Parts: sequence; C-alpha cells; structure tokens
Amino acid sequence: MFRNRDFLSKKTWGPQPSYPNVIAKKGKFDKLLIIAGPCSVESHEQVDKVVPVLVDNGISYARGGVYRAGTYPREDFGLRPELASYWSKSCREKNLKVVMEILDIRLIETFDSWSDAFQVGARHMQDYPLLVELARSKKPVLLKRNMGATLDEFLGAAEYLARGRCSPILVERGSATHENHSRWTQSDSMIAAVKRMTGIPILVDASHANGRRDLVHPLTMSGLAAGADGFIVETHPEPDKSLSDADQAYPLDGLGDLIADAKNLMELRKSWRPAC
Ligand code: PEP
Ligand code: MN
Repeated sequence: MFRNRDFLSKKTWGPQPSYPNVIAKKGKFDKLLIIAGPCSVESHEQVDKVVPVLVDNGISYARGGVYRAGTYPREDFGLRPELASYWSKSCREKNLKVVMEILDIRLIETFDSWSDAFQVGARHMQDYPLLVELARSKKPVLLKRNMGATLDEFLGAAEYLARGRCSPILVERGSATHENHSRWTQSDSMIAAVKRMTGIPILVDASHANGRRDLVHPLTMSGLAAGADGFIVETHPEPDKSLSDADQAYPLDGLGDLIADAKNLMELRKSWRPAC
C-alpha cells in the first residue's frame, strides 16, 4: 500500500525523481482559490462588462490573455499594451488581483507591472530559463502541466520554481490522448497524486482540460473531488462571440452558481475519511 509522499520515492521503476523543495513547500491558500475571466482580453467594452461580475463573485484572481500562444500562427494574439494596461488598471481599481500568462522572458518586467501573479502556459512548462527567472519573483507563479507531461516531469518543472522565492501553484489542464470527444483529457489522478505527495497547491482548469463548455461544471467538480485547492474557469459575457476558445467559454451569468456548487463540494470534502 502506498502512503502519501512515499509514493514515488518507494517505486523501483522509471525515473528516480528529485524535487525536495516541491515536497517541502507549503501552499499559502487555506480557502478555495478561484481564477476566472475571459480567454483573451478583447476590448474595453468586454473588460467593463466582465470586471464587475468577477468582483461581485469574490474571485481570487482575474485572468485574461493579453499575449497568448496561439496553436496556429494565423491567429493574431499579439500584445496590445494599451489594452493590457486598461485590463490591469480596471481590475486593480476594484481590488481584484490579476494573473497574466507570460510567454517571453524578455517581457517579465512589463508583465510584472501589470500583474499580481504570473502564469506559465502549458506550452512553456519546460521553458527552464523562464522558470528560473520567474522563481526570483515574490509573486505566485501558476505552472500549467504540459499536455504531454508525466507527473515526474510536472514536478521536476515545479522544482525550478520551488527553489526560488515565488509561491508555485500547479494547474492540471489536460493531456493529449486517444479521446476525441473533448479537446484534451483532464487527469484527476494527477491532481490526487500531487496532493498526496506535495504541499504545493494545485488547481483544476476544466476549461482548457476539456475544451467544452458543457463539461466545465462537472469536471470542475471532479477535479475538486480529487483534491484540487481551487479552479480556473474561462468565462465570457457572450460565449459564442469569444475571439478565442469560444467552445469552452462558460457563460458569465453562470459563474455565481458554479462557485456556489464548488463551495458546497468543498464543505462536503471536509467530512471524507480516506483510509490511506
Ligand atoms: C490559458 O490559460 O489561457 C491557456 C492558454 O492555457 P494553456 O496554457 O493551458 O493552454
Ligand atoms: Mn483559453
């Protein structure tokens, strides 16, 4: 029978992992961590509609892509500094913290001025120079699991962050698998294993992990049931008109119910009694 943190250290097959700082690090979050906002920050008008709803729902961090890694180069996700700055200012004026994905090590200073936390996207999970630089920051750094990364590779990348001053937060965002009913396949097992082995918080991102808006609610709940400390949800005032990831955009007016259901599940979770 495997017990908590001994799981990987006792195994005799595969890579022999070494991530002492990840194992030792303790998460700071004792409440449900909720990160919500649009896939992309699109316009002043969209910002003005979204921000008040995020504030009303008491979320922890507003998310919104301002410089994104498009799967295809024809998608124009170039940085629009004026819009990024407007988004950041609008959130902060309402005491809403901002998390932004950072793609490029050369832009750390610029993004540092706009955001209260950094996000390393799935495609950059193993961009080690970027991780080393971000680890110097005192801000939280979200690390998304690459769609092909094993638990060992995920925690190895997290170790780069955990050796620094930042507070790493892991994110499960799905793998590429044989399944074709969803864009990616969410690994709740990854979440449960991380919780057994480490003190680092991990979030479920059911939006990216599934790519389908109708799966966001059930798979947010399954990720939380597996032990996630919170969740990320992409939301849009008019989901079908979302300029990126429209298929997974969750209706902004459904956010309150999603959060209420998540909080109920977290209450229920307190009473669970796993034997090992
Ligand atoms: C995102 O969160 O906007 C994003 C691009 O996610 P991922 O890196 O998981 O694809
Ligand atoms: Mn997205």
